[in-house]
Amino acid sequence: MKGRVTIDRELCKGCGYCVEACPLKVIVMTRQFNKAGYFIAVPENMNNCTGCAICANMCPEVAITVYRGDEE
Ligand code: SF4
Ligand code: SF4
Repeated sequence: MKGRVTIDRELCKGCGYCVEACPLKVIVMTRQFNKAGYFIAVPENMNNCTGCAICANMCPEVAITVYRGDEE
């Protein structure tokens, strides 16, 4: 199954849990920071994403939205 994730950069606190949790290394930490001053995680290797939602379930800030298949 194909998936896609978006991360709300202003909600992200840069904890890195999603980066650690993703079995397919879709999400990476960056050196960009948001308005609150946290480094943010971004989905980079989106072609690998299966939509499993492990990342979203790990995110303490509920910053990650997962889309599966053809959902928009
Ligand atoms: S939905 Fe699954 S595969 Fe996609 S980024 Fe999140 S943990 Fe990784
Ligand atoms: S788990 Fe959530 S708060 Fe932590 S780095 Fe990932 S998106 Fe940001």
